[in-house]
Amino acid sequence: MEYRIAVIPGDGIGPEIVTEAKKVLDRVGQVFGHTFHYTEVDMGGVSIDKYGVPLTKEALETAKNSDSVLLGAVGGHVGNSRWYDVAPELRPEAGLLAIRKGLNLFANIRPACLYDGLEDACPLKREIIGDGFDMVIVRELTGGLYFGERHTEEVNGVMQATDTLVYNETEIRRVAVKAFETAMKRKKKVTSVDKANVLDSSRLWRKVVAEVAADYPEVALENMLVDNCAMQLVMDPGQFDVILTENMFGDILSDEASMITGSIGMLSSASLNEGKFGLYEPSHGSAPDIAGKGIANPIATILSAAMMLRFSFDLDKEAEAVENAVKKVLAGGYRTADIMAEGMKQTGTKEMGDLICSQIA
Ligand code: NAD
Repeated sequence: MEYRIAVIPGDGIGPEIVTEAKKVLDRVGQVFGHTFHYTEVDMGGVSIDKYGVPLTKEALETAKNSDSVLLGAVGGHVGNSRWYDVAPELRPEAGLLAIRKGLNLFANIRPACLYDGLEDACPLKREIIGDGFDMVIVRELTGGLYFGERHTEEVNGVMQATDTLVYNETEIRRVAVKAFETAMKRKKKVTSVDKANVLDSSRLWRKVVAEVAADYPEVALENMLVDNCAMQLVMDPGQFDVILTENMFGDILSDEASMITGSIGMLSSASLNEGKFGLYEPSHGSAPDIAGKGIANPIATILSAAMMLRFSFDLDKEAEAVENAVKKVLAGGYRTADIMAEGMKQTGTKEMGDLICSQIA
């Protein structure tokens, strides 16, 4: 089969890690008889430098006309005045919000599991880690506080800023369906996270999620307040299967979940629309502090490419081959700097990509 992938290397370590993910996809193509056609698209700081905006209409069109999108990361040092001394909608990260909205990617799926051999990189105590953990965070991505109206004004001589948090039933229902569908293929448990003791939007969230749950009698639903969830993630992460939550809570909780896996460099993500189309990217940012050094961990991006194979192209066998290759390389004791431990063999970005390719047969 042939697939058209829009590739957005972005800024910082983005181009380095995307190169490795493409290499792995090409290896999959070679072994399983598929062809992946790539079209490169500018977004973020690199697009600002060329066109003055973080995402052009043409770039969005190219993404829309492909079968899926592979993204590295965008953004630079916030001190980089060239990209940051401008209106928020012209900053690199505005490209992310624009592409998610433009492609109607309303559901963000982020797995967070502890790989065998990375227990020492996990900041939690062994007795808390127990038998490990394996969860997926399903985060609403195009609504809530990040997309509500905002303004700053002076009121009685004092500056005041307002952000608004809006959710409607449709937005809640469609992401809840993704969470329950995901749970059906896993341990059949959904933890819906909200702040229903305070927020109206959370009370509507809880009501709609309960309605969706009625269509999935096999899946156990529990509701949890966001502050409790933040604690539970570091006290007993093994209790979670699928965590379903709104945009800002999901942003924060998924970073917390990523930390307890040992390295943000290991975490993949998919952002999906109602159909098969998706944007696949690592959970981390552009890591400008290590850009160009050849030491970034490419595994999150490679595992994101594996998610693309599974979710957008229905190539489950191929996705598994990539995931197993990652496990084998880790089991062989190879580590990038971010997950390095005593007695292990340190590799750079490119070597890690090569090792993973060599395990796909
Ligand atoms: P970050 O995720 O880029 O980096 C946080 C820390 O993790 C850094 O020490 C970095 O070196 C390390 N790190 C991240 N990815 C790594 C990898 N693959 N291998 C090894 N180490 C890795 O977060 P930040 O420093 O807060 O943000 C940097 C820039 O990225 C900012 O401009 C931010 O806005 C942007 N950002 C972009 C995205 C995205 O493109 N989706 C997401 C988050 C942040």
